Amino acid sequence: MIAEALPAELEAVRLRLRAFLHEELLPAEREQGLREEADAPPALRRWVRTRSDARGLFRQLQPADLGGGGLGPLGQVALHEEVAAAGSVLGRFALGGDGGLLRHGTADQCRRFLAPVLSGELAAAFAFTDPPEGPRTTAVRRGDVFVLTGVKAFVTDGPRADLLLTVARVTENTGGLTGTGLFVLRREAPGVRLSRELRTLDGGLHGEFALEEAPVPQADVLGEIGQGLPRALESITALRLRAAAHACGTGRWALDYTLRQTARPHRSGTPLGEREQVQAMIADSATDLFAARSALYACARMAESGGDVEIEVAMAKTLATEAVARIVDRAMQLTGGASVVEGHPLARLYRLIRAWRIAEGTTEVLRLVIARGLIKNSCPADGTGTPSTGR
Ligand SMILES: Cc1cc2nc3c(=O)[nH]c(=O)nc-3n(C[C@H](O)[C@H](O)[C@H](O)COP(=O)(O)OP(=O)(O)OC[C@H]3O[C@@H](n4cnc5c(N)ncnc54)[C@H](O)[C@@H]3O)c2cc1C
Repeated sequence: MIAEALPAELEAVRLRLRAFLHEELLPAEREQGLREEADAPPALRRWVRTRSDARGLFRQLQPADLGGGGLGPLGQVALHEEVAAAGSVLGRFALGGDGGLLRHGTADQCRRFLAPVLSGELAAAFAFTDPPEGPRTTAVRRGDVFVLTGVKAFVTDGPRADLLLTVARVTENTGGLTGTGLFVLRREAPGVRLSRELRTLDGGLHGEFALEEAPVPQADVLGEIGQGLPRALESITALRLRAAAHACGTGRWALDYTLRQTARPHRSGTPLGEREQVQAMIADSATDLFAARSALYACARMAESGGDVEIEVAMAKTLATEAVARIVDRAMQLTGGASVVEGHPLARLYRLIRAWRIAEGTTEVLRLVIARGLIKNSCPADGTGTPSTGR
């Protein structure tokens, strides 16, 4: 529907990924009767990874200097959207991550953490969110180590992780800086306790960790103290873009399903697609999807050319996750009762998409990011009050 006009090389990778998803993953899922990601045993996840690697896909999004394909934000968006558009339950395991926050480490940290994470030897999870009721996670310096205390909620894949990339406020650091820091906390360190395992509607597994004076050597602090929050937010911007890509891909799948469903014979004697009310719903879904994808690819192109895209990504993530909720809902309405039966692909999507309007920043918080960013950009720091004309 939208011509993304990707560079030829990226388009070729996208088509290879599509072939992998349709030729290997979807048939394997059908054969094994797999309906939920949470039911995929570790051996099956490993198989996906190995096959994806064998087809030269798994490392496409990883840095080129570490042996990856070095694809940038446009590649991230195009490939993640393609995975979701296939409607594959196992698709999430087909693409390796790009190392996220660990890419900001020193050469020594890259050797000890980034390389093993990219190769799959170690697994890392992002521990950013403190529980709504508090407390805030803090770090204090004691000799050569920082000691972390607090609670980290909703750490996705945390129970399976080796490293927790933890954001904490440094309150004591004799002779050094204070402010937010990023800490590579080993899951097995003393004082790290998995206090709760949570399963979300989408089948995801998350951990809540109690940190009770958990030590992190100074050599395992990522970047400068005081820069933890901006770095974490940069990384969250990339995750938001990826979430928007997944939402758009899922919207593509759901609209395609709607079109096929409404073209089928119906007991009323006329395919539903010939009814005007139905056509209006199809048009609304297609318009939602077109707007969301246009924003998504515009953002990816801006990010590709190195611009600051925090505000635009917040817009794209909001548009896409809100749009896919409406698109899947309409697809269910037009499919009727069968769609709410457990095991129907739309029933799975309905659960899957709900969390996306909360995870990586709620829609309400993203509105604040957009408005505050625009207000800040329109008021120069020199206090003249003369609004700038652009970003
Ligand atoms: C599936 C999933 C995966 C996640 N993965 C991770 C992860 O890997 N690592 C991690 O650190 N966290 C993760 N999270 C946590 C996620 O980032 C938070 O749930 C999210 O940021 C919302 O925070 P909260 O749950 O504390 O809710 P709150 O911040 O308490 O928000 C509750 C409600 O209040 C609204 N609200 C809050 N502030 C304002 C305001 N100023 N104005 C108006 N409304 C407001 C929110 O929009 C929301 O509707 C995950 C969450 C989910 C659902």
